[in-house]
Amino acid sequence: MKNIASLVRPAVRKMAGYTPGQQPAPGSQVIKLNTNENPYPPSPAAVRALEQALADGDRLRLYPPPTSSSLRQAAADCYGLRAEQVLAGNGSDELLRIVLDTFVDPGEKVGFLEPSYSLYPVLIQLRGAAAVPCPFDWRQPEQMPDLEGIKLFFLTSPNAPYGIAFSNKFIKELAARLDGILVVDEAYADFAAGNALELLAACPNLIITRTFSKSYALAALRIGLAFASPEIIGEMDKARDSYNLDYLAQTAAAAALGDQEYLQATLARIRETREFFQRELQHMGFTVCPSATNFLFCWPPAGLSAAGLYRFLADRQILVRYFAAPPLDRGLRISIGTREQMATLLTVINQFIAEEDKPDGYR
Ligand SMILES: *Cc1c(COP(=O)(O)O)cnc(C)c1O
Repeated sequence: MKNIASLVRPAVRKMAGYTPGQQPAPGSQVIKLNTNENPYPPSPAAVRALEQALADGDRLRLYPPPTSSSLRQAAADCYGLRAEQVLAGNGSDELLRIVLDTFVDPGEKVGFLEPSYSLYPVLIQLRGAAAVPCPFDWRQPEQMPDLEGIKLFFLTSPNAPYGIAFSNKFIKELAARLDGILVVDEAYADFAAGNALELLAACPNLIITRTFSKSYALAALRIGLAFASPEIIGEMDKARDSYNLDYLAQTAAAAALGDQEYLQATLARIRETREFFQRELQHMGFTVCPSATNFLFCWPPAGLSAAGLYRFLADRQILVRYFAAPPLDRGLRISIGTREQMATLLTVINQFIAEEDKPDGYR
């Protein structure tokens, strides 16, 4: 009898793995506000490009362009960079793994704000590196973390799960103080007023990652981009799978980038709904974190349990995100859906507030 457990790397055996938000079966009637997907469809240009790509089924026999060359050029044109400054990944999650494989040896320290994206510690543990969480207070977001001995630092900006954007002044100072690599995870930057792209020229140790899963509404296809100096991108390029991005993903992403008008129209609707939803929640006594993203983190008024509200909503086919571990356990993270979805959600929250004798499960 082989003892498999004794064969597994201790780093993997000890870790719990990443817990994604719930994904209900396709076709179910839930209002899904738990994983920050876009409530609107992707650009029709992207869908057309996919249809055309599939019309020639024979193309699927062949491997995709190994370096995602057309997509990288399209991204460079779109963001005012050179193609050598762009790397495409199978979701930005893959790019986060690639930066660790490129820059971090086992045992080295990798910092990140806590709470933030819960995939960072998972990837760091997988790499055999040391995860260094730095406490983050949303009321004082621009406190400089302790960077002593840190080889690489992940900063989510705008931040998740609170939604707060960091200023470029802060990001520039963080990059300057850090002896290692600064990764600014801009998964939500399209929803914000600004981003860190202009810092690339001044900060040689800066890597910016983006995703097509949120603003571009292409989560199903797994597409991410990294922007950095040609030197950094050249090294990261060696650490990816040889055909890391499939042909359909490359095709759709390039077409989506080409339709900035559609992107801006979608973003405007989501921002407007976010402002509406924030005002309504505040009227109902919620505390709401200022958000530059497509979600809001909010705390119910005194006497109401966030966990109870989460279950009340789930039982009524509305999924939001509840994190059971402190300091997030008293609040909810709610993705911004369509105006109609948010109006329905507000009605159900009002029912919850009005229900005087709540059953045990909702307390
Ligand atoms: C959604 C998200 C990602 C993942 O993006 P994918 O491209 O879908 O892998 C990365 N970072 C943060 C902070 C996110 O919220």
